[in-house]
Order: sequence, then C-alpha cells, then structure tokens
Amino acid sequence: MRFLIIICFCINLIYACMLKEESWNDGESFLLFLQRHNITTQLYFGLDKTERELCSDIQAGTTIQVLYGDNSKKIKQILIPVNEDLQIHIYKNNGRFAVEVIPIESITRKQSIKINIITSPYKDILSATNNRFLAYEFARAFKKKLNFKQLKKGDYIVLDFSQKIKLGSYFGTPDIYAALVSEGGKKYYFFQYDKDSRYYDQRGRSLTRFFLKVPLRYTRISDRFTNKRWHPILKEYRAHLGIDFAAPRGRKIHAAADGVIIFKGRRGGYGNAIIIKHKDGYKSLYGHMEKFAHVRVGEWVRQGTLIGYVGSTGLSTGPHLHFGLYKYSRAINPAKVLRITKNHLEGRNLRKFLASVVLYKENLTKASKDKVLKLKNMKLSSKIKLAPLKRSLNDKQ
Ligand SMILES: [Zn+2]
Repeated sequence: MRFLIIICFCINLIYACMLKEESWNDGESFLLFLQRHNITTQLYFGLDKTERELCSDIQAGTTIQVLYGDNSKKIKQILIPVNEDLQIHIYKNNGRFAVEVIPIESITRKQSIKINIITSPYKDILSATNNRFLAYEFARAFKKKLNFKQLKKGDYIVLDFSQKIKLGSYFGTPDIYAALVSEGGKKYYFFQYDKDSRYYDQRGRSLTRFFLKVPLRYTRISDRFTNKRWHPILKEYRAHLGIDFAAPRGRKIHAAADGVIIFKGRRGGYGNAIIIKHKDGYKSLYGHMEKFAHVRVGEWVRQGTLIGYVGSTGLSTGPHLHFGLYKYSRAINPAKVLRITKNHLEGRNLRKFLASVVLYKENLTKASKDKVLKLKNMKLSSKIKLAPLKRSLNDKQ
C-alpha cells in the first residue's frame, strides 16, 4: 500500500502543473505580453473594441497567475485581473489558445456596525473589524468633510457597508453606503446615491467637491462607466472603465484638471492617448485622439489646456473621447468627481435618493457593537478554483 502511494506521488510530481505568479511590467502592452509568452497574437486581433480597451487597462504591478503543465514548459492558463471584479482568462481549448473575460470569484458581505471612538476613527475601525481596507476607505472618503481630530471619547461612528472576501481575506475597496458620525451629541449623515456613487447629506445636497472639468464640448455620453456587466446577447462579461463622450472629429480636448503629462502616444485599444497625473493619486486618460496638441511628456498643464483633438484611433466605432479616471491605479467612475451634474439632486433622482435614505437610516439604527464580525470568526461559504470553465459560468446565468 505504501509502495502504491509513493508511486502515485511520483507520477503526480512528473505531471504536476506549476503555478507561477508574475507582475505586469510597466509599459507592457497586451500584444507584447502574448509575444513574450509565445502565444499567438491572433488572440488580440480577434478582440472587439471594449475588450481591447480592457486589455490596455491592465495596471503595472498587477499580480498575474500563469499555470504551466507538462513539466512546466507549456502554458495551460493565464489569469490577468483588470479590476476587482473581472479578469482576462487565457486558456487552451482543443490545443489552441482562447481568451475570455470572467469574474473574479469572491463573496460580498454586507454589514452595519457601530464603532465607539476611543483614539481615532482609523484605529478604532481597525481594532473593531480587523479590516484595514474599511478603516482606510472611511478616512479617505470623509477626511475632507469631517475634522477627525474633533472626535472624542463618547462619540461614535455607524457604517453601512459591503466588503468583498476572497480566499479567506478581505479583498478590494469596501463600498460604504451610509455613515453616521455622532460628535458631541450632533449627528452627521452621509449617504451614497447608487446612480453616481457620490455622497450626499440627508436632503440630497452633494458633499463631493468637484475638481475635474468635462474635457470637451460633447454631443452625448455614448457609454458610461461599469466595473462588471453581463451582456445578455453576447453572453459575456464586459467592463467599461471610463466615460465615452461622442463628439465630432477634430473637436478640442482639454485637460480636466491641473497636472503633469506622463504619457503621450499609442496605447493599444485606446489608440492615441494622453495620461495626466493629478494631485491626491488621481490620473486621467484621454483616448482615441485624432492628433495631439503641442504638449509633451513631463510638461505641467493647467485645467483647460488644449491637449488634443477628437478622433477614432485604436479600435473605435466612431469619433469620441474615452475619458478614464484612476485613483492610485484603480479605475474609478469619473462621474464621481466630474462636474457633469448639479450640486444637489432634483426631481426623480431626489425622490429615489430620499427613498433610499429611509432604508439606510433603518440599517444605521439597527447596527450595534455586538454585531461586529471579525474575519477570523467567519466561515467561508465559497472556495475559489483557479479557472472556472466558460460553460459552467454561463450556465449560472
Ligand atoms: Zn471607452
């Protein structure tokens, strides 16, 4: 029996698959990546506009997984995350490479918790939840609206939020839907409106400071931002990590805010593109330009500086500007900080928002300190496989 186990173990070793982790190189294109791994570039040329844009959005430093088989020489599968929700999956199908966009499997836990202030919001949230992502996100989202130093013992915070969990660890940025901060007996409320992900007070007045200006005079918004969307006709997962502004060819494009030009040139699916680095970890991307204005990499530009002209370079269905916004290399919805809408909600939006406020307030009142769940106490209900097959994913829909 022991002999048999040893033989099985040896066979396993010989035919073992090997999983290697790599970091996405700075400035590497998807095409170059395929060539470097001896994968046919036909894979790239078979992709449509949205998929090519997604391939151009892989951020330097992203951890990718490569699964080798047959004595670690041949690649069997590759997983490349493009954001917290989706990943590009390259796999062998009947001896040929194929590519698809699949979700990153994680579970989402919604919670309402009350945290008493003892030292500082960051430290107190961390010690109550073991979740540094939540502590950081609270500080990031509200530090400009609240004076944290004024919060004292006896004050408290209530948060209604959701957090993704992957392989037993917190994963990605939590979504804080509503927050109540009680300071010296005074209560401050913050509510997120799901349509634009902005924070408003309980009467629908925006608490977000806009620092980006819409970069051009556009005809209409032809595509909005989405992190993950199931396309019922194509039966595929899609993402669009920016806003598409339709405008006539040659229309002037201006810098959305002050910053330094850090990229100017071809960028895969985005065609002729410019990237500007702004303050607070923001970067803006302008794609599909017909031509560039007289600006160069390293140059400081002011908000409103002419940087280029609308076109449809890259893979594009018609002249438009793809405008992407990144915060610490994570694509965020530009509508959050773009001066597109008014400072307060009106009409149907206001009515929808006020209805959600009632529900959020209920959650905030129900929250209590005893209900805080720390991750180490959790039982995970789902385990992650390296690469779920396309068919089984589609069956779930
Ligand atoms: Zn686009």
